[in-house]
Amino acid sequence: MPRTVKQIVLAIYHAAVEPLAALARRRKRLAMFERRGEAWPPEIAVRALRARDCPPRCKADPHRIEGVVARYLGVRRRPSRLTPLIVDLDRYPTNAAFESYVRKRSSRTLPKVRRAQRLGYQAKRFPLARHVHDVHAVKTSMKRRAFGLVLDYWLLRLEDVGKPAVKPVAWRTPPCRRHWTMWWGVFVSEPGHAQGAVTVDERLVAYVKLVRRGDFIHYADLMGHGDHLNENVMALLHFEIMRWLLDREDPLVEGVRAVLYGAAEQGGDGLVTWKKRAGFEPARLTLIEES
Ligand SMILES: [Zn+2]
Repeated sequence: MPRTVKQIVLAIYHAAVEPLAALARRRKRLAMFERRGEAWPPEIAVRALRARDCPPRCKADPHRIEGVVARYLGVRRRPSRLTPLIVDLDRYPTNAAFESYVRKRSSRTLPKVRRAQRLGYQAKRFPLARHVHDVHAVKTSMKRRAFGLVLDYWLLRLEDVGKPAVKPVAWRTPPCRRHWTMWWGVFVSEPGHAQGAVTVDERLVAYVKLVRRGDFIHYADLMGHGDHLNENVMALLHFEIMRWLLDREDPLVEGVRAVLYGAAEQGGDGLVTWKKRAGFEPARLTLIEES
């Protein structure tokens, strides 16, 4: 029952409220970013659908893009109503080049990341089943966040997050290199810390659900525990993921052109400022429809 209420509220919001709010905010929000080049925001064509050479176990749809991410993609000369914020990996030959760009925007961002690392926070990927209890604790740790009220604070049950593991589980490589879902978390060592009956000896304090759809990766769900946000665990998580992407060594990130995290029109000014300091910029993403 609670999930149905949440789905109805979100459906009304996405269909009726968000497009109007977006129109009202667009000009002001885009003015927060420096213009780069003639055509701005730049248009980037992306492949996202299941391709002919995807392995049989690939779960991507060959014809349509599913879920909330469709709101950020334009198709057939119909631009999206939102302006996606992305990091265009083509702009950065190395992670050092990306960090140098970030430093120009804010000299304080990367030192905050180093400080979080010195405090013992560590970012890495994890199987969701291993940390269902911690993810639930993060999601229900605050009533209000940068994007508004958090319905999950009142409605979310443990089983809505996932099925908790009942024995130790290892991370497994997804079947398709170009279409996958992967969870990354920020952890802090805590001997004896358990998830149900399974002792994991570390606590997850922030997470992101990464969804790779062909040429881009979507930050589909990004959240930190209210007790740890002041230690900059979100910045640590983002910059460790960027390092992984820009090192370009893992076959799972080969061919990734962009990282997408919401739109310029969404959330408060503070959230957009955070994204700008994290290296995100406005762009137009256009879906290439043939596979
Ligand atoms: Zn695939």
